Amino acid sequence: MVDARSRSSDESLVRKLVRLMDRAGLPGMVGKGDRVAVKTHMGAPLTTRYLRPFYVRTVVEYLRSLGAEPTVVETTGLGLLDPRGTAEKYLKIAVSHGFTEETVDAEILIMDGERGLDCVKIDVDGFRLKEVSVPRRLMDFDFMVGLAHFKGHEITGFGGAIKNYGAGCVCKETKYYIHFENKPTVDEALCDGCGECVDACPTGAITLRGGKAKVDWNLCYGCKACQSVCPRKALKSTRHRDPKEVQLRVVDAAYAVLKTLGFDKVFSLNFLIEVDWRCDCEHRQRGWSDLPIVPDIGILASMDPVAIDKASIDLVNKAPAIPGSQAYEVGAVEPGSDKFRLIYPDIDWEFMLKASEKMGLGSQEYKLVKVS
Ligand code: SF4
Ligand code: SF4
Repeated sequence: MVDARSRSSDESLVRKLVRLMDRAGLPGMVGKGDRVAVKTHMGAPLTTRYLRPFYVRTVVEYLRSLGAEPTVVETTGLGLLDPRGTAEKYLKIAVSHGFTEETVDAEILIMDGERGLDCVKIDVDGFRLKEVSVPRRLMDFDFMVGLAHFKGHEITGFGGAIKNYGAGCVCKETKYYIHFENKPTVDEALCDGCGECVDACPTGAITLRGGKAKVDWNLCYGCKACQSVCPRKALKSTRHRDPKEVQLRVVDAAYAVLKTLGFDKVFSLNFLIEVDWRCDCEHRQRGWSDLPIVPDIGILASMDPVAIDKASIDLVNKAPAIPGSQAYEVGAVEPGSDKFRLIYPDIDWEFMLKASEKMGLGSQEYKLVKVS
């Protein structure tokens, strides 16, 4: 890790990031001509605490100095009609947050295509998922560097490397199953056969029979467009009530992503900077960011997504809470208090790490090496 304290230009966090990648052995893993996916999240409307484009550019330039061919990659959000639902809409948000091909010095590729349909199924023997829908273009890459803005999360307790892959690198269908028990079902008592969902569905999965909508789950890819347009709220899906159900599916999906690229082909960077207690995404089109819960800590690097997330949690918990922040308000004031558990008392963040270990994603054991 490198810490966030800088006393001179040589200690700029950007320069330290380069030294961190050096020390963590990235030059030995990436070679001339390797196509490298640089995965990050580019923020959502009304959010302010996302990773700055300059960190992404630094990684891009570093990879290019090694002879590699970097591409900045992302996937569309869950709901097709949501602000990040298509490639075009997401790229507009990216521009508004300072992410352009000029600022990051590389192509920005939304890997699952304009409407999130360019995907392939990967078999997994997961806790809950037996197949995971991943972007077809993910297979174009030889290696991936994941840049995660580390923070709390309303469903999984925290978001870091595991979530960057398990939710951030998968297609809408898997994102749907991460959040919901089943694809949309029609409440026939509410449906008046207006047909708006039929027109909105990109895959022709909905037909009208007997004046009522019918959904063919084999054709449905979980884009939620029908649910967004239905004027009578007749299309239903049930959210997982237990956060553990979501955590297990994120772990299954992360496993599929790492399996696709190769477990020794994914290098993780966690940025413990402006650590919000909430996720960077839009939360049903009502995005916002709050005060960070702790002072900036620094950047971590690892080939193990479980170890880096455990170390990140420990570092945040060891830090003092920022007065006035959510952590402070819930009483996680003293260094050492478990901020994630106090902020989200109904979520067991450790459960996701233990499940990741069981799945073979990595180990919670780590040794922190400080790089200056
Ligand atoms: S949009 Fe709603 S009310 Fe209209 S046909 Fe579809 S499910 Fe029925
Ligand atoms: S039925 Fe069609 S519109 Fe509705 S979620 Fe499935 S693919 Fe999307």
